[in-house]
Amino acid sequence: MGCAGLGLAVHMQRAGLLRDKTLLMVDKDPKRVNDRTWCFWETGEGPFESVVSHRWEQAWFHAAGYSGRKELAPYAYKMIRGIDYYDYCLSLLRDVPNITILQVQVDAIRQDGQHAILEADGKIYQSGLLFNSIIFGELHPLPGDHMLLQHFKGWIIRLPEDLFDPKEATLMDFRPDQRHGTTFVYVMPFDRRTALVEYTLFTETLLEQEAYDDGLKAYISGTLGCAEYEVLDEEFGVIPMTTMQFPGDHGRIVNIGTAGGQTKASSGYTFTFIQRHAARIVSDLVVSGSAPRPQPWYAQRFAWYDGVLLHILAKNILPGWFIFRELFRHNPTHLIFRFLDNGTSFFQEFKLMNTLPRWPFMRAGFAELLHMIRRQKK
Ligand SMILES: Cc1cc2nc3c(=O)[nH]c(=O)nc-3n(C[C@H](O)[C@H](O)[C@H](O)COP(=O)(O)OP(=O)(O)OC[C@H]3O[C@@H](n4cnc5c(N)ncnc54)[C@H](O)[C@@H]3O)c2cc1C
Repeated sequence: MGCAGLGLAVHMQRAGLLRDKTLLMVDKDPKRVNDRTWCFWETGEGPFESVVSHRWEQAWFHAAGYSGRKELAPYAYKMIRGIDYYDYCLSLLRDVPNITILQVQVDAIRQDGQHAILEADGKIYQSGLLFNSIIFGELHPLPGDHMLLQHFKGWIIRLPEDLFDPKEATLMDFRPDQRHGTTFVYVMPFDRRTALVEYTLFTETLLEQEAYDDGLKAYISGTLGCAEYEVLDEEFGVIPMTTMQFPGDHGRIVNIGTAGGQTKASSGYTFTFIQRHAARIVSDLVVSGSAPRPQPWYAQRFAWYDGVLLHILAKNILPGWFIFRELFRHNPTHLIFRFLDNGTSFFQEFKLMNTLPRWPFMRAGFAELLHMIRRQKK
């Protein structure tokens, strides 16, 4: 009943699926705190437009040797506060007669031929379909899979004087020290004095908490030049960036959210993929009454591209700042967004890749292709 569970229930409710079906929603958490903030890009109005708290149409990119202010059109970069999303979804779902919300720890899920089965609090619940967003236990990548962590600490800061332009975000600033690995900061200003500043890394291991604080302090005082500021709120998060295969659907159990492989391996962005997956599930349920069909083979090339980037980063073949700098320097941002959304054509992908160093990417591409073929054969 987190991001994916609530999103799916809202999509089902809007499509009228719950008129003749019942839905039991289970979460150990009541979802009453602002435990995260989602940022994502989107064209036009999205399914959760009413809870978008801020949007930006321009964004800066910075790295050694290049800085650029980017027009994001036809996209806007948007932000939704976790608590606004939870409140909105729950207020829409709470009074629907066919929905029951249960706050309890799930111990296990399984299926027999006839039912999906959920065990919680010593009780057994059965249903025709079960949508699962819980990752039970640790993630176990196979040999040859890459596993980086996107980990970040963000502070909402308020300054005593005007500094920010609330129309312009900083999408990626790679100027901070890169000694821990790929490290960047993004800055999302809400008004002239208030902004979310997030210190982010793509590495194999987490840092000590003080290292994130040091990174934030260095950026705010050094790069932004603010000696005085107040920290209004903070968030910390870890998102897996991995080529390992998450179980998709197993008959009566359909995995959704990060547990269902909806986190983009090369970027960590998940929110948009979750909502698109929910829309696909709902349209398949409306049309055929069954869970979604697997993606066509040609759509799987994006998993290959993700693997290539992770291969290069995990093996330190090229530094992350350099790859992103070349991408942002030589390509319009809308094309990069579309690519990261798995929405480009072969021709557009060829153009993008032509702006990156050929040989390292070709070698990594070959290695990842072999790995994917071996995995399919197992
Ligand atoms: C701090 C943070 C910031 C993020 N920011 C962005 C962003 O800006 N953009 C973006 O695209 N992605 C972002 N992500 C990644 C991703 O969008 C989120 O993690 C998103 O919440 C994933 O949705 P989900 O439904 O898979 O998992 P969750 O939202 O975590 O939902 C899983 C639910 O399962 C419940 N649960 C877990 N175990 C049990 C159990 N045993 N029994 C009962 N309930 C259980 C949890 O309480 C939770 O409600 C962020 C992640 C974090 C952690």
